[in-house]
Amino acid sequence: MRELSFVTMELTGINASPGVASGSAYLLSPRQLPEPTVYPSPPGLETERLSQAITAAVVQLEDIQRSLSSSAGDSAAHIFRSQQTILEDPALVGEVTAVIHQEHICAEGALRRVVDQYRLLFLQLQEDAYNRERVADLDDVYQRLLRNLLGVKEATLLTIPAQSIVVAVDLLPSDTALVDPSLLKGLVLEGGAATSHVAILARNLGIPMVVQAAGALEKISPGSEVVLDALDSERATVVVHPNAEQLRRCRSRVDLMTRRREVLARYAGAEAVTRDGHRLSLSANVGATGDLAPARRDGATRVGLYRSEFLFLRAATPPTEDEQYQAYRTAAELFPQGGAVIRTLDAGGDKPVQGLSLTREANPFLGARGLRLSLTHPEFFRAQLRAILRAAVHGPLQIMFPMVGGVPDLEAALAILDEVREELDTGGVVYNRDVTVGAMIEVPSAALVAEALARRVSFLSIGTNDLTQYLTATDRLNGAVQEYYRVYDPSVFRTIRMVVDAGHRVGCQVGVCGELGGNPLAIPALVGMRVDELSMGASSLATAAWLVREGSYSDMQELSAAVLQQEDHRVIRRLLEEYHEEQIRRSGL
Ligand code: PEP
Ligand code: MG
Repeated sequence: MRELSFVTMELTGINASPGVASGSAYLLSPRQLPEPTVYPSPPGLETERLSQAITAAVVQLEDIQRSLSSSAGDSAAHIFRSQQTILEDPALVGEVTAVIHQEHICAEGALRRVVDQYRLLFLQLQEDAYNRERVADLDDVYQRLLRNLLGVKEATLLTIPAQSIVVAVDLLPSDTALVDPSLLKGLVLEGGAATSHVAILARNLGIPMVVQAAGALEKISPGSEVVLDALDSERATVVVHPNAEQLRRCRSRVDLMTRRREVLARYAGAEAVTRDGHRLSLSANVGATGDLAPARRDGATRVGLYRSEFLFLRAATPPTEDEQYQAYRTAAELFPQGGAVIRTLDAGGDKPVQGLSLTREANPFLGARGLRLSLTHPEFFRAQLRAILRAAVHGPLQIMFPMVGGVPDLEAALAILDEVREELDTGGVVYNRDVTVGAMIEVPSAALVAEALARRVSFLSIGTNDLTQYLTATDRLNGAVQEYYRVYDPSVFRTIRMVVDAGHRVGCQVGVCGELGGNPLAIPALVGMRVDELSMGASSLATAAWLVREGSYSDMQELSAAVLQQEDHRVIRRLLEEYHEEQIRRSGL
């Protein structure tokens, strides 16, 4: 049996955080605590035990957030703040206490009962990625409370040996949070998703991660040597017991990754000008206030997309106008030159917000989301617009509307904005009158009237994530149909070209702020289509600057012309890959 375990084996999975690593396997078997035994106990004693468990959990979560803010960035700490919000939710504690009093049972049993009800509620509300993450957070909180009640010490990744590649079914965000990044070389999960919180953390920490690696726990034995390659492609490979040749290849891939990272880092913050003098703007997409400073560190001088819904998503109650004002002011002050584009609330779809979008819809992505939701909740919308206009006194902010469907929606939004300006004038409130406005193009009906929209605003920004979903009729979160969510679909590139031309005809700037805008394969073609701005996750900025600066505009125009002639996404992908490989060769990377 023992010799068998040394046979070289290869598993494949999905690349959830890019990189190459080798190390020894550290297996984390599923270690959820067993179902708690329910026993009768006096309510006074049990409420006291519950309250001690909660107090301890709050302290633990605060410790995690403190240690995280410095290592993994604020969006990681944000995950634990949201767990703390669950813990501090008086409804949850109130319901557990009520069960203890009504049934005279132990705190563990009461907690289990209430958490089960909540889990069901979340899952019934909407079966989507956002709610799955909320359930993951709830389970994480539940396990923590249970451990505290039972006096069980947390089995964490805290004590992993150096050079570990952790193999698990799935991980809770707190598992990854507590790990010492200098000891962790990689993550291999049998389950998991590239959109999960754990994947966000891994990417923030620069740790390669593979998800959906079927059979990993069964096939990898503890301590065995593992090579994980998630460098270039969407698929990732995990080699167990690599032979000498595979190890040599891994070493050279690690060298390659290190060299590339070093070379690309030099381009962070560099101006995006092609060799033959064509210039465009590169900017960052941010999700939470805490992402602003790291974006600056990654070389961003402008925020092209500030997803304001992150201020609303996890909060039990929507942020007030003043809280929003503070958040937008921070953005304005941190980006005094380039400024920030504040996208108004893009709730609904996969992003339900308390008090706004809790109605169950059969097709939430085709329902009340984005601007539609703002127009039916003008009180929220007005408060947000007021907050942005006031904050723009402190730096250059712009307003952008998401999910514009056509001229009537845009005109309705602009009319409300005018009313808000008048209100501020009447009230003598200090604000910036010159804030410019843009519309997102992410719905085909908007793309087809882009010129009419462009005449009414200062800029258009193409949201390719939703545009692709609506053009290809493929739910962006439905794993079962992901092969139809074709990011290189001819329809996507042709629509982008059409929108750019429509905008330029009337002197309106056109940018791309969906994932395609930061995709190294797509960037040269987008530049060739005369896109004025590419906005992307800040960690992609250096690569984007390298692609622009080391390429020529005429080559990129040729590439985009070739792309626009194609009828099949596979051919487009091949063309883009060929260009990319050539550029890597030319740069000696
Ligand atoms: C998009 O749809 O491309 C976009 C940028 O918006 P979001 O991903 O937030 O829906
Ligand atoms: Mg969108």
